[in-house]
Amino acid sequence: MTKIKDVTTYLETIAPLSLQEKYDNCGLLTGDGQQTITGVLLTLDCTEAVVEEALDTQCNLIIAHHPIIFNGLKKITGKTYVERTVIKAIRNQIAIYAIHTNLDNVLTGVNNRFAQHLGLKNIRILSHKPGMLRKLVSFVPPTHQAQVLEAVFQAGAGKIGNYSGCSFTTTGMGSFTPNASAHPTIGQANQPETVEESRIEVLVPASKQQPVLAALKKAHPYEEVAYYLQPLENEHQGIGAGLVGELPEPLSTGQFLAHLKKSLQLELIKYTPAYSGKVHAVALCGGAGSFLLPSARAAGADAYVSADFKYHEYFDAENKLMICDIGHYESEVGTKDLLYDILSKKFSSFALNLSKIDTNPISYFK
Ligand SMILES: [Zn+2]
Repeated sequence: MTKIKDVTTYLETIAPLSLQEKYDNCGLLTGDGQQTITGVLLTLDCTEAVVEEALDTQCNLIIAHHPIIFNGLKKITGKTYVERTVIKAIRNQIAIYAIHTNLDNVLTGVNNRFAQHLGLKNIRILSHKPGMLRKLVSFVPPTHQAQVLEAVFQAGAGKIGNYSGCSFTTTGMGSFTPNASAHPTIGQANQPETVEESRIEVLVPASKQQPVLAALKKAHPYEEVAYYLQPLENEHQGIGAGLVGELPEPLSTGQFLAHLKKSLQLELIKYTPAYSGKVHAVALCGGAGSFLLPSARAAGADAYVSADFKYHEYFDAENKLMICDIGHYESEVGTKDLLYDILSKKFSSFALNLSKIDTNPISYFK
């Protein structure tokens, strides 16, 4: 029997809540994590119609990209669609879980699916999120070095890009004097001791700090574990907003627009026509991504594909690249399939449904 909490905890190993932006409201918004799952419905937006669909399909967990409760609720009387959606979900014991900017901010998240649709290669983060790495240094007897390293690796330390188990070790002499209350692994009370120790250094993602420290303390033989944990300026290669990559072959702007339209099944693309070069490097960001235009230009992108640009922001392309505004919903709708793939690989004890409702609030009159 899988509980709601089992699914949300798993999702948070992929997109930790600590990676959400300050303004966001990810996580369990309604419901009880201890309830057994009867079925899961995946959607971009949770609306009243989606809650209705969950009821019709016996799903008691809705996983949505956009949080239905975003700016807070002061009254829940049913006057707005947000209030009505929340009331309907609570009345029917349906849990709503939002996985929003935390899923935007991981290399394997929303934008990865978007980049795959466009056939981009060599995908990397467009704007790294600062403060996402720590350096952990600890001092261990050489006899326990392998055991401690293995424990911190298992807890998430020591990963650099495509490499795992990354560490650096030197040996030297450590000194200490246990007091009368101590229970030293080596030495005796009030006797100064000097012993050979290994100094081990590993990188730790900020989101894994707690489990890594817990693993270190558990595996380390000393009563008092000596360690330093330092924040780093280094960029975490897997965490940040937007992506950039290259098309297999450079395309003319016309070819690129046609490729975009076809690969994402778009009805409409708003774009800046002044860019006359070929399109090879492409930056993208699902949803409202105009804030990343400077990053796209700095990355040398020939095109920046995103949504929700304002009139004056199009001018900021300055003919240096082509802005392609494909629509917010269109740029993120692949998130449903992404969540389906993530969850279907891990769980098989409940039905996993893609919402059949097109929640896009915008239509195009042609
Ligand atoms: Zn969005």
